[in-house]
Amino acid sequence: MKEKCPLCDLEANYNFVEGDGNKRKKFNCPKCKMFVITDTAEGTLNTSMSEYKDEFSKACSELSDRYLMHIYVPPIETNIPLKAVPEERSHW
Ligand SMILES: [Zn+2]
Repeated sequence: MKEKCPLCDLEANYNFVEGDGNKRKKFNCPKCKMFVITDTAEGTLNTSMSEYKDEFSKACSELSDRYLMHIYVPPIETNIPLKAVPEERSHW
């Protein structure tokens, strides 16, 4: 499936991560390369965090091909609005 990349707005391929109730999308973007993003993280990026899109895009694109970025909203008590953690692609 194709959709605008939530980080850089280029057209990108994505699919839903299996067994997750369609909460996470795995993107393969020509610019940002591969990353997994939750629906809540995508919503946060589109609203209160849109000025951070470039930063996330850059961080994703700089990972080696063995990794992808997992972008999600951590538990509220951490007081962190969004987290981006490199994980091995083989986990996904
Ligand atoms: Zn992108």
